[in-house]
Amino acid sequence: VVRAPLIAARASRARARGARRLSSVIVAARASSDARCFVFSAHRYEDETLRRALPNATYSSARLSLDTASLAQGHDAVCVFVDDDARGEVVDALAERGVKLILLRCAGFDNVDCERARERGISVLRVPAYDPLSISEHAVAMMMSLNRHLCASRDRLRMGNFTLDGLVGSSMRGKTVGVVGTGKIGRGVAEILKNGFQMRVLGYDKFEKDDFCGDYVSLDELLARSDVVSLHLPLTPETRGMICVETIAKMKEGTILINTSRGLLVDARAAIDGLYSGRIAALGLDVYENENRLFFKDFSSMNTNERMLVWDETMAILGSMPQVLVTPHTAFLTHEALDEIAKHTAENFRQFCAGERLEGANVVVDASVSAASTTT
Ligand code: NAD
Repeated sequence: VVRAPLIAARASRARARGARRLSSVIVAARASSDARCFVFSAHRYEDETLRRALPNATYSSARLSLDTASLAQGHDAVCVFVDDDARGEVVDALAERGVKLILLRCAGFDNVDCERARERGISVLRVPAYDPLSISEHAVAMMMSLNRHLCASRDRLRMGNFTLDGLVGSSMRGKTVGVVGTGKIGRGVAEILKNGFQMRVLGYDKFEKDDFCGDYVSLDELLARSDVVSLHLPLTPETRGMICVETIAKMKEGTILINTSRGLLVDARAAIDGLYSGRIAALGLDVYENENRLFFKDFSSMNTNERMLVWDETMAILGSMPQVLVTPHTAFLTHEALDEIAKHTAENFRQFCAGERLEGANVVVDASVSAASTTT
């Protein structure tokens, strides 16, 4: 209601351009050829891709939070990544600074308060898939590294220790992998392990897929029968804390557990208890419940007092365990995936600026839809 005069003025300009009648009010609100984009959490590894695709954007290494939202002042769009914080109050702060679009350089949108974005007239676009096999391959690399003790071997090498005791692994052939979430990434993992390693594949999914190469079973059965459990689910209220004391107790003794999805799927303290008890033989985490305080940062040059302020005791315990492998959300980090992220992000921005109808799997929130319905 407050924005009605602005929207009406822009609508008349849009009609003049012959924009589609139904969505003209909204289209006008976002159509602008000189729209400006502020990129949060910009990393050097994106220099060759994102900076080329969005050459006129403003780049900052700052992570989006309530403290940094003011950087977006004067920009129509913000471009964010997995660990940027776009909770309700941050969305409010962006809206107050005139932001109308959140461009996610990732598929998951659990870090954005989408309802608040819609209320505040902010559209949210994402990259629904970027070379999903890159993430599948990383999950397989983690399980193989843990199974064959590659990290322990490397640690020993540095100390001049070439002994074999403690490095015995298992052949994957004939073992069972449980794929929890059989979407694009989970199906990739299933196919690699079935075709490449001749593993038996079990799957659990809320929406079973016809082209899944394994057998669907209940989650309890999957946990009870699998030698390796690999998680490939989005973070939702339903999946949050899915791997906890109760579900770990249902796992086979000596399970290798891999999480490349979202940290909050796994209760890390419960996983540590599972490692102590031997229920979990090895743990591979590319994501972590508290990763937005840790990942993509370097604490090594801080003085001790500063470092202790951010010290994560749970991560310290995980880091001390030879049967744990943590990678800092790097499963997606391939040239192929970065190219796709940059290409799709730039295309999302272009569509928005051109006032095109937002539709497809890239649309998380089309603020024009609610705005249109409230005006009719
Ligand atoms: P997808 O949407 O193709 O597959 C997700 C699957 O989970 C779907 O089959 C869906 O039916 C299933 N599912 C959803 N809710 C469920 C529930 N409550 N119970 C059971 N099944 C449920 O997604 P994807 O591309 O395979 O990605 C999976 C996840 O991987 C993403 O949500 C994201 O969090 C994560 N991811 C991580 C990285 C990384 O670099 N580590 C990169 C990309 C994606």
